Amino acid sequence: MQGPCSRRSRDSATAKLHSRHCGPFTALGLGRAPCSGARSCSAMCRHLRVLVDMDGVLADFEGGFLKKFRARFPEKPYIALEDRRGFWVSEQYGQLTPELSEKAISIWESKNFFIELDPIPGAVEAVKQMAKLENTDVFICTSPIKKYRYCAYEKYAWVEKHFGQEFLEQIVLTRDKTVISGDLLIDDRPDITGAEPNPSWEHVLFTACHNKHLQLQPPSRRLHSWAEDWRAILDSKRPPPSQAI
Ligand SMILES: [Mg+2]
Repeated sequence: MQGPCSRRSRDSATAKLHSRHCGPFTALGLGRAPCSGARSCSAMCRHLRVLVDMDGVLADFEGGFLKKFRARFPEKPYIALEDRRGFWVSEQYGQLTPELSEKAISIWESKNFFIELDPIPGAVEAVKQMAKLENTDVFICTSPIKKYRYCAYEKYAWVEKHFGQEFLEQIVLTRDKTVISGDLLIDDRPDITGAEPNPSWEHVLFTACHNKHLQLQPPSRRLHSWAEDWRAILDSKRPPPSQAI
């Protein structure tokens, strides 16, 4: 039997009000009034909030980049995915020859780069399942590139294409993920810093070609792929049953 905070109740007007008041921006104070529902949100309806990165976690940025780089610059050297090191593609390409850094950047600044990225294997199904879990809120938390002409639009279009229109409600576009509140941030970038020195979330590093060789210091942990038991990671962040209402 489902409790008062079940997924089923999220479709109600009350749940929508809850979501509006207790969304991921509460740490920012972005005009969200405190929840007036007499403890209804924070105490009685504590949802686990999971922030899921997009590029390298849901969308195959690295694979899409390499395919388009080789198509546009077939005569230029490239870095095979197994040889990728470091988060910044342009830096490693710039180490091959300085001109390659700009050529690399031109790939993801081009029209249709983001919308045409393939999903990471298992990602779409996993996140759809995650969003259906009881007491769980999922947000896609992604940083658009500064040359935003195509990127921001195409990120929305990609989510609509693979998750459906209703999932557009779950998008958080930010250049600084530290100011977004959550319990978990699943992200392939090893170093996530910003204005908030103590983010509310635990960063779980999603394994990607560029970070798989990094040795994490405990208690930092990884999600190696969407085939791994991501539910166990979520469950490790939930309050024990005695504290759950
Ligand atoms: Mg990423």
